[in-house]
Amino acid sequence: MSACATSPAGPHAVIAERGQREVFCGLTGIVWLHRRIQDAFFLVVGSRTCAHLLQSAAGVMIFAEPRFATAIIEERDLAGRADLDDELDRVATRLIARRPDIRLLFLVGSCPSEVIRLDLGRAAARLEERFGRSPRVLAYSGSGIGTTFTEGEDACLSALVPTLAPAPGPATRLLVVGALADVVEDQFRRLFAALGIATVDFLPARRADAMPPVGPGTRYVLAQPFLGETATALERRGAVPIAAPCPLGAEGTRLWFESIAAAFGIDPAHVDGVLSLPVRRATAALAAPRARLAGRRVFLFPDSQLEIPLARFLARECGMILTEVGTPFLNRRLMAPDLALLPAGAQLAEGQDVERQLDRCRAARPDLVVCGLGLANPLEAEGFATKWSIELVFSPIQGFEQAADLAALFARPLARRALLEV
Ligand code: SF4
Repeated sequence: MSACATSPAGPHAVIAERGQREVFCGLTGIVWLHRRIQDAFFLVVGSRTCAHLLQSAAGVMIFAEPRFATAIIEERDLAGRADLDDELDRVATRLIARRPDIRLLFLVGSCPSEVIRLDLGRAAARLEERFGRSPRVLAYSGSGIGTTFTEGEDACLSALVPTLAPAPGPATRLLVVGALADVVEDQFRRLFAALGIATVDFLPARRADAMPPVGPGTRYVLAQPFLGETATALERRGAVPIAAPCPLGAEGTRLWFESIAAAFGIDPAHVDGVLSLPVRRATAALAAPRARLAGRRVFLFPDSQLEIPLARFLARECGMILTEVGTPFLNRRLMAPDLALLPAGAQLAEGQDVERQLDRCRAARPDLVVCGLGLANPLEAEGFATKWSIELVFSPIQGFEQAADLAALFARPLARRALLEV
């Protein structure tokens, strides 16, 4: 079953589709979240398929004491919910006894129907009481039903928000929201300090006991575009949003910092003084990958929800021509600053009907296709150069220092194909 409609979104046309989709589920988020929150453990309540997905997506964990696992729900568990609750309690209790270093335990739901029937929120509350709130226990769903893989992070962070302490005092504090690589956080902290923003927190923090407080004095800004539920949860706690494009690329990062600085009433001349050198450096570093990308045509399939900010970066800073920009969901409020910077007339697509979209892609004959793993291999076999969008979520791509690396991620498949053609 599929439905398709075309509607205008400001200066852009939007194809809206509700058909078969090719995306990973929200469990995938565990792969980067467990690296970010260094004393958290993610216990997936799921099937053998879930266990396989996690093991193959996070195979790199082989040298480390893993901080995620799957409590596999077998067919026999269908016998009764009481048994299932007991089994979950038993697994969690054994885990906490063996790993006293865990400070935050997430019970992560999945899509098998027996798991959906389990009340993981209640199980988390029950276990937290049993453990005397050490560790904290929270629940969220990473189910693949009707969701895409970056929504796992959104679900995880929105589960954290109600547990954050109230922000003290009347002073305004900045909250940067979205899992970032440590190196990116450090760079951002240095620039915030140079701008004169005294109190800056990041959600999620690197450790469970360092999660930031939140309250009416909090101004929050998203560092990732796929955090709609988290944004709503923060606003429920009184935090006020700062609208800004995503900090991708030299221009995107400059506009992100400028929007934050404006919200804090910082003199634009001072902001210019702080940002001019990193902007110049990032712009100069972009020259080499831009030479390979400029004038080339790119087609983005809906996958990571990073597609609109990436398309903005590829068009404006790398000179690429957008043939179609797909996104699993179009959150017009959160995306407004990036949408406003897309070239007029850019073709957007919300949702997916994969066969129709593949037909449009073949007809457009782009030089580069950005898509999920499931589509990349068949498209490569048809002669298209592809970029796996999931790599963009695993790599540090935000900020000035990473702008050229981000462009190089797109230039590399074109360089490889050029070599093969030679
Ligand atoms: Fe598959 Fe659902 Fe488990 Fe994801 S949560 S691995 S989609 S069964």
